[in-house]
Amino acid sequence: MSPPTSSPPTDRAGTLRIDRLQVAYGRAVQALRGVSLEVPAGRITAVLGSNGAGKSTLLRAVSGTLALHRGAVDGGGIALDGIPLTGDPARAVAAGVVQVPEGRRVFADLTVEENLRAGSLGLGRRSAAERRAARDRVYELLPVLAERRRQAAGLMSGGEQQMLAMGRALMAEPRVLLLDEPSLGLAPMMVERIAGIVQRINAAGTSVLLVEQNAAVALRIAHLASVLEHGVVRLAGTAAELAASDEVRRLYLGGSESAAVGTHRAKLGRWTG
Ligand code: ATP
Repeated sequence: MSPPTSSPPTDRAGTLRIDRLQVAYGRAVQALRGVSLEVPAGRITAVLGSNGAGKSTLLRAVSGTLALHRGAVDGGGIALDGIPLTGDPARAVAAGVVQVPEGRRVFADLTVEENLRAGSLGLGRRSAAERRAARDRVYELLPVLAERRRQAAGLMSGGEQQMLAMGRALMAEPRVLLLDEPSLGLAPMMVERIAGIVQRINAAGTSVLLVEQNAAVALRIAHLASVLEHGVVRLAGTAAELAASDEVRRLYLGGSESAAVGTHRAKLGRWTG
């Protein structure tokens, strides 16, 4: 992970506040029960929790995509710089809140460059020069995408596809980037690269809401963190406070950071099974 490469621009505030949020799927599943947390402008906030805790649901609520999963907000609210987000994905993007798709979906048959171009579709009136400038900023943050610009996305490794999915989201020049388990299924070295990229994106001025099961990595790069359990915030604080907490160390870090990277998933299976 590298140190910040540039200081955050000053005109891109983006404090996201989630206030007593409740979300249900149909009538049967109350997935979030009064979740409050904040992603301060220019910061990385991590959300940890085991399977089914409600992490993806939280991101879907923020990106306005709950309806696609037959879910709905039934209490509380979400606001960006004090302006309520409405639960409509296009308005969330227009407000500057963009989610990297779950499962790092890319268009396999399109080239890297075509995938990036697809990321700027539907963003309203932007000139060709503005789109090119956005693409060049993505290439600067993610040089591997520039090197592979003419390669079909389907031929890239899982980690590179994750970078492309992030690059595509960055084409919208978000104020807040939503990331759902970017390290899932990647080898440790690639996990480190992705973590470094998230830091660079943040250092360039984008706030990040990061959902991760890899608590060791998430707590290392985040400023703030919350632990979700069965739809409620069980613990919250600075990432350093959580990393030092006995409970987090026992449940999510396996006593040491290095142990957690390799064994976290297996342990989660035991804890939740
Ligand atoms: P994971 O790490 O396994 O993705 P998560 O913390 O992201 O877990 P969610 O996927 O948000 O958890 O799920 C929270 C709760 O909502 C779970 O009980 C889950 O079964 C339920 N749930 C999620 N999506 C739906 C859906 N589309 N319809 C009904 N229930 C759902």
